Amino acid sequence: MNDTIVAISTSLGVGAISIVRLSGQESISIVNKCFKGKDLSKVATHTINYGHIYDDKELIDEVLVSVMKAPKSYTSEDIVEINCHGGIIATKRILQTMLNNGARLAEPGEFTKRAFLNGRIDLVKSEAVMDLINSKSDEARKIALTQMSGKTSNLIINFRNKLKQLLSSIEVNIDYPEYYDIEVITVDKIKTETEKMKKELENLIKESENTVTIKNGINTVIVGRPNVGKSSILNKLLDEEKAIVTDIAGTTRDIVEGQIYLDGIPLNIIDTAGIRKTDDIVEKIGVEKSLAMIDKADLVIVVLNRNEKLTPEDLDILTTTEAKTRIIVLNKNDLESHINLPPNLENVIETNTNDIDGINNLKDKIKQLFNLEQLTMKDYTYLSNSRQIFLAKKAYKNLLDAEEGIKNNQPIDMIEIDLKDCFENLGEIIGINYSEEIIDNLFENFCVGK
Ligand code: GDP
Repeated sequence: MNDTIVAISTSLGVGAISIVRLSGQESISIVNKCFKGKDLSKVATHTINYGHIYDDKELIDEVLVSVMKAPKSYTSEDIVEINCHGGIIATKRILQTMLNNGARLAEPGEFTKRAFLNGRIDLVKSEAVMDLINSKSDEARKIALTQMSGKTSNLIINFRNKLKQLLSSIEVNIDYPEYYDIEVITVDKIKTETEKMKKELENLIKESENTVTIKNGINTVIVGRPNVGKSSILNKLLDEEKAIVTDIAGTTRDIVEGQIYLDGIPLNIIDTAGIRKTDDIVEKIGVEKSLAMIDKADLVIVVLNRNEKLTPEDLDILTTTEAKTRIIVLNKNDLESHINLPPNLENVIETNTNDIDGINNLKDKIKQLFNLEQLTMKDYTYLSNSRQIFLAKKAYKNLLDAEEGIKNNQPIDMIEIDLKDCFENLGEIIGINYSEEIIDNLFENFCVGK
């Protein structure tokens, strides 16, 4: 971390302005070597300075240079940002000039990684930075901003503080086992506190899963045998001719995707190849893909043709999707009904793709099934990605183990191990005790220059 890194922080293309950013001990001196204007080593921090960048003696661009000195900068190191003219050539030449003068090309996310390693932001806040950049809806933006403000981290920190208190009272017990009274008090206290924390964590996990839904949307797969109207339904939902609609069975051979927003929450829809036994190699691949998509989906929309009797393929699809959150759409209800549904199917609706009300039925059903109206009114303080939730679930499991230990009259130091693991797992959420590998993997997914 002692070297000085540089990257183009704006997206590389034709535009009015680009920013080349440096961070590290040498950033001011490196830019100063190629800058004609004020002496940057003498300017006050957080100032913008007009001048020109030269590579050797060649003028590269007319620029504005921002100087932000450590520790009050994004990375807590000296940062210099060169605002140059946009466009690929000028920007790349500025970058090259900085490299020629001793800076090293930054890896993806290395600026934010430095902010994290220098203790300026924790891991939840670091992830939120990238979430904000990648946010595809206003809701996702709000979640990222809330996390960047530290509210989510505080939730975890407060939880850990409670655990810490409990752990110290256990320590007293272990250190002074001769005082029988203390042990009685401690076991009782652990029991009550563990119960309380378990409920709190349970709620946190539930709310966090909702937050992930708001942020990432509902991954929806439309399945059904060929020609039942899947592509037509997708088109109606998307309001565009994205999937090819024909009356030749097996037309949708590959996956067709689209996204709509229901109450501000993205619905990521995939129209699959029809599921049917086939010898056509291309179609076969499509069918296999469909099955894999069903496995991963949050919601499966099974489309059946209400105008026809159920076929063995329809029954196969109903069985394959039984365990999933699903809506069964009886399509083509503008035609006569011949369908013979098995009893006790839930979430069955009727539609037809010639009628907007039919599609609205489907949208309403999705809203109802995922409680979308309530989701959008909630606050955004919770965890918002699978890494964070995975660790929260591990911490929850530790509390369950502690509870089990108490029930089975296990020695108090065994129970303490579970509570300590819980403490560690929660710490990992915000990046206390982290493995290098996890950190490297995480920041690798950032964009260069952030
Ligand atoms: P897919 O193979 O399941 O994707 O089915 P398509 O969306 O390609 O539709 C197959 C045929 O059924 C096309 O000719 C559509 O125009 C027709 N179709 C789709 N939905 C309806 C509907 O609700 N009512 C009627 N009458 N025909 C429909």
